[in-house]
Amino acid sequence: MKRAINTFIVATTLLICFNSAAWADERPNILFIFTDDHASQSISAYGSKINTTPNIDRIAREGVLFRRCYVTNSICGPMRAVIQTGKYSHLNGFLINGNKFDGTQQTFPKLLQKVGYQTAVVGKWHLGTHMPPQGYDYSEVLIGQGPYYNPPMLKNGERTKHTGYTTDIITDLALAWLKDSRDPDKPFMLMYQHKAPHRNWQPGPKHLNLYDDVEIPEPDTLFDDYSDRGTPAHTQDMTISKTMTPNDLKLVPPRNFTPEQLETWNAAYGPKNKEFEEANLTGKELVRWKYQRYIKDYLRCIASVDDNIGRVLDYLDESGLAKNTVVIYCSDQGFYLGEHGWFDKRWMYEESLKTPFIVKWSGVTKPGSSNDDIVSPLDFAQTFLEIAGAEDPGDLQGHSLVPILKGKTPDDWRTVFYYHYYEFPGPHAVRRHYGVTDGRNKLVRFYEPDVDEWEMYDLASDPQELKSVYGKPEFADIQNRMLAELDRLRQELKVPEIDPAASIRGK
Ligand code: CA
Repeated sequence: MKRAINTFIVATTLLICFNSAAWADERPNILFIFTDDHASQSISAYGSKINTTPNIDRIAREGVLFRRCYVTNSICGPMRAVIQTGKYSHLNGFLINGNKFDGTQQTFPKLLQKVGYQTAVVGKWHLGTHMPPQGYDYSEVLIGQGPYYNPPMLKNGERTKHTGYTTDIITDLALAWLKDSRDPDKPFMLMYQHKAPHRNWQPGPKHLNLYDDVEIPEPDTLFDDYSDRGTPAHTQDMTISKTMTPNDLKLVPPRNFTPEQLETWNAAYGPKNKEFEEANLTGKELVRWKYQRYIKDYLRCIASVDDNIGRVLDYLDESGLAKNTVVIYCSDQGFYLGEHGWFDKRWMYEESLKTPFIVKWSGVTKPGSSNDDIVSPLDFAQTFLEIAGAEDPGDLQGHSLVPILKGKTPDDWRTVFYYHYYEFPGPHAVRRHYGVTDGRNKLVRFYEPDVDEWEMYDLASDPQELKSVYGKPEFADIQNRMLAELDRLRQELKVPEIDPAASIRGK
């Protein structure tokens, strides 16, 4: 009897497989649009006061905008590894930039391949793996950080050379794959990943003079003096005033340009630089000039990203793919646009802890909606697996966002989030730290090798995080609660007692 039932099950399964092969596979496609260092303060859908991003806003208009998407470790390579694996840095092994990602481990693209998805990555990879990246049917990626102009790339591991602006080229490659190269009978997952707007913010030829005639508003804390905070804020090396180089500020021309590109560049920057040199600025006026130069170049890079995203969205609409493609916009972390006098990222403070995250999924996400749940790029792998109908491998640390995308947050959704940054000593001298936040209260411990200091912030009364309340008697109850949450989460997430960064230093 049992044998007869088994035979029936096998026969039925074969029949279903046969039938589904004859029918179109209607599982949704996934288009993951990713940028490097794009702060939500420079996206108009997030209320930017300094620019507009009409095409990124299109995604928000048709989908859901997340206001509390927190990164686990605010630095480039490590966040890419978190997205690939759905695991914190201490488990995926990629703690600091300079580590190499172990591409042999389980990643979500490999799991999607197993259930019949076609996977591709175009643009910035930056995981230091052997090439081509593992888990992808097609890849054409920048080598390391890659330049803003004329990038050499690796197409399925073979070197290629392009002439032009990298943001445009990456988009051309993504569109070419979508139009001509993929297998139209299979659902796809495409990671379309820009270098922009990463340092040193070189604008494309079309945008070199954008914002020339306007003054971009300064953030309130451009001249922060770091009073009421501990040692780390005083000893960092990421200020607009002191850390930016002539190269960052475009006072010297780039080196890898064609003669035509250089001519166009010099025609734009030459007169502006001459005016600057003649003004002989000092003190606060010099910082103000540097801020304007920095922020305008940063926003010019965003303008190009936004234009190019428009090209891809147009193609999805025209081809009909938009109906069955989940479109995600995200950056690897947030960024300082002059807040606290800084550029760069790394801190658990809000600007670098939060990353933009917008999703449109036709017929699923409510157009123009927003969400305040605590979500994270840690959740993406689990989410993509559920969208594709793949099995949950059981060892991921994120949670599927599919219920939230459908408008129903699970009752047991996380209310407190754990963060951990390891890269010290390192560029910009931001101390190693970890902490927890519930969206209102934030507890942070800076540690090793020569400090051990705590900070706590009440974001309701101090949204700019200018005054640590750690150790204040009136916050004792909250502090105890947050300390207990920190212990709980460190255990739950299997954070080693001995700092894992100690063993990788110097590698
Ligand atoms: Ca980054």
